[in-house]
Amino acid sequence: MLLELKGVSAAYGKITAIRDISMTVDKGQIVTIIGGNGAGKTTTLRAMSGMLPVTAGEITFEGKRIDGLPASKVVAHGIAHVPEGRRIFPDMTVEENLRTGAFLRKDTAGIEFDLSTVYRKFPRLQERRGQRAQTLSGGEQQMLAIGRALMSKPRLLLMDEPSMGLAPVIVDEIAEIIREINQQQGLAVVLVEQNAELALELADHAYVLETGNCNLNGPASELHENDHVRAAYLGI
Ligand code: ATP
Repeated sequence: MLLELKGVSAAYGKITAIRDISMTVDKGQIVTIIGGNGAGKTTTLRAMSGMLPVTAGEITFEGKRIDGLPASKVVAHGIAHVPEGRRIFPDMTVEENLRTGAFLRKDTAGIEFDLSTVYRKFPRLQERRGQRAQTLSGGEQQMLAIGRALMSKPRLLLMDEPSMGLAPVIVDEIAEIIREINQQQGLAVVLVEQNAELALELADHAYVLETGNCNLNGPASELHENDHVRAAYLGI
């Protein structure tokens, strides 16, 4: 097992946003968290990456407790977060943005190697390496956010709404990239998506969050056939 959440709760001030969440992610798996607006999906990812402290429960990664660690320490353990809205640095160039992903690494040769791997995977980023990030299209900015996360050499990638605001043809491209990263590099992914159809198609396993609680999970293909999931999230 790569990542395990046991009875995790997290809050914003006095308001508890997620309650007693338990989930597991195995090596090489794509796990998705689906749910409506405000269900707690982003909050769960923020708890995993140390951006938000947990108020109860335990999080372990590769057998080590990581809850209570600051986000920079969690990255060093091998978890990278591609946040909602990409959060790239608009005034920095594409390449400068990518290099920020490696800010904790000291292996200069390894960094250059991984930069060339990212450019091979995203030729459009290579073409635009000297361009300011704010001039990229939405799809290219999402690729940049993914590339930047890969520069930390993670073993688990947390992705928050990668399809948000993108045209359907670009969404397909991003979905293919997620599949490739997972299959070619064996990287495990936790995917948060409003687009439940896409999420269940990509994922091995799925968790359904409703108002901060998770009472339903299972293989993604089974949840795709679940009556409640179909009615609530797939519009069927
Ligand atoms: P969405 O799909 O709309 O992004 P979500 O499932 O990701 O929703 P969260 O963003 O995790 O949901 O929000 C869970 C709950 O926590 C919501 O009730 C939300 O209003 C609340 N919340 C989120 N961020 C904050 C914050 N910074 N301060 C206070 N409350 C917050």
